[in-house]
Formats: sequence, structure tokens, C-alpha cells
Amino acid sequence: MSKTILITGASRGIGRAAANLCGERGWSVGVNYVGDREAAEQTAKDVRKAGGKAIIVQGDAAVETDVIAMFNETEKQLGQLDGIVVNAGIVAPSLQLADMSAERLQRMFDVNVLGAYLCAREGARRLPIDRGGKGGSIVLVSSVASRIGSPFEYIDYAGSKAAVDTLALGLSKELGAQKVRVNAVRPGLVNTDIHASGGQPGRAQRLGVNTPFGRPGEATEIAEAIVWLLSDASSYTSGALLDVSGGR
Ligand code: NAD
Repeated sequence: MSKTILITGASRGIGRAAANLCGERGWSVGVNYVGDREAAEQTAKDVRKAGGKAIIVQGDAAVETDVIAMFNETEKQLGQLDGIVVNAGIVAPSLQLADMSAERLQRMFDVNVLGAYLCAREGARRLPIDRGGKGGSIVLVSSVASRIGSPFEYIDYAGSKAAVDTLALGLSKELGAQKVRVNAVRPGLVNTDIHASGGQPGRAQRLGVNTPFGRPGEATEIAEAIVWLLSDASSYTSGALLDVSGGR
């Protein structure tokens, strides 16, 4: 059955890979991006080539009005949503907590926590059957960092992802009777540009050798789990925190 999905931060990395897999299933995808329109257009092109429909929707996931607008635009152009992937996220340069500025902490929690809660809230307002929705699936992209704590490096990021895990646990219970499933995927080290954006290019390859699989994951391997959670194949799965981490 065809589905309509909104994916935040879908211009590259895990979000783009998830969009492509949705396209392969013939689904319709709202491709959210914040800055790089050209990259988002490429994602949309790939989705169409794979057999799906796509539109691009600009917006900062940490800004309430942008979030509401991206949901409205996706539903206007593609129809009522069946699922959302709350994927947009950031890291920041490696530091210990003692050296982190309040501005850094604020931005980390604005994007990774406030942004996730705002996007999930829109899902909670639109998907439940008693609100006129069709039911559906909310997939939150967390991280194994939430249970590691990421000391000496990303203690702020780890805490932000712990909040995302907790959101999945609580919201799955709020929405269960409304035919909305809520789950979190927790990637381990994945080979994407997020590491370079945090000032550590090559981090996934460097640290990936120490994982049980001896390598970092690829965005497509995370996308498979996301799309399974969006699909009807996971119809009895909700409130799960699914590690996709090569055993890390
Ligand atoms: P990425 O940097 O390639 O992609 C992140 C995307 O989010 C980018 O397209 C970026 O533009 C977008 N984004 C950032 N801030 C945004 C905002 N305010 N509004 C809208 N979009 C915004 O990284 P990725 O590895 O594909 O990360 C995707 C998700 O996976 C993130 O939530 C990240 O924390 C999580 N994750 C990644 C890894 C990894 O090793 N790559 C591990 C665990 C979890």
C-alpha cells in the first residue's frame, strides 16, 4: 500500500537514504531541508527515479512555524500523512562539558530535542484516528550515544538523544490506542557527513574498526530499519529503541 512520509533533514545522509528506499516502494516523500536546496532537489530526483513521488519543503526543524509549514505543505501537495521520520540532527566539535558554551548547548538542544519534539507533536496532531488521521508511524532517529554518554566528546549530543529515546517511550503509549506507532532507531557509527560537520572527518571509519563488525555502518543500513518501522511489516512494534549499530 502506498504511503506518504515526511522526512526531516533529508537532503543527505541517513535522511536521503531513507527517502530513496521510500521511493523504491513507490511511496510519496516530503523531503525537508534547512539550507542546501540543491542537495534536497537531488534527493527528490532520486526518489522519483526510484519510482516514488517527492516534493521538497524548506524549514528549520527547531523553529515551530517552519515545522508547521513543512507539514502543511507536504499534506497539501501529497495528501494525508502516513508516517514521519524525525531525522534532522546535529553534532558539534569534540569538547568536554567544562568547555562547552551555553550557546552550543542551546543549539544542540534546540535542534535535537526541541526540533524532535515539535516534529513529533505535529505527527501527534495529524496521524491519530480520533483527530481525523489514518493512524501511522513516527520514527525518531536517536543514537547509541544515548546509552553511552559520549564522554570527552559529545556529552551534550548524547543527552539530547536520550531525550529522543524517552519521547519514543512516552509518545508510543499516548498514541497506541490511536493507531499510531512510535519507535526510535539508534544508529551506531555511520559513514555520513555529520562527522565532518562536527570537525571530525573520517571519524566513522577511524572508530568503526573497533566495533564488533570492524566497520562503520552505511546510511542505507540505517534506512532499512527506518523504512521497516514505517511499513506495515512492523505493525505490532511500538515503543521500541532499535539499535542499528553493528553490535556496538
Ligand atoms: P547528516 O549531517 O548527513 O544529516 C543530517 C541532516 O539534518 C542534514 O541534511 C542537515 O542539513 C539536517 N539538519 C540539521 N539541522 C537541521 C535543522 N535545524 N532543520 C532541518 N534539517 C536540519 O547526518 P546523518 O548521519 O545522516 O544524521 C541523521 C540523523 O542520524 C541525525 O539525527 C544524527 O544525530 C543521527 N545519527 C547519526 C549517526 C552517524 O554516525 N552518522 C549516528 C547516530 C545517530
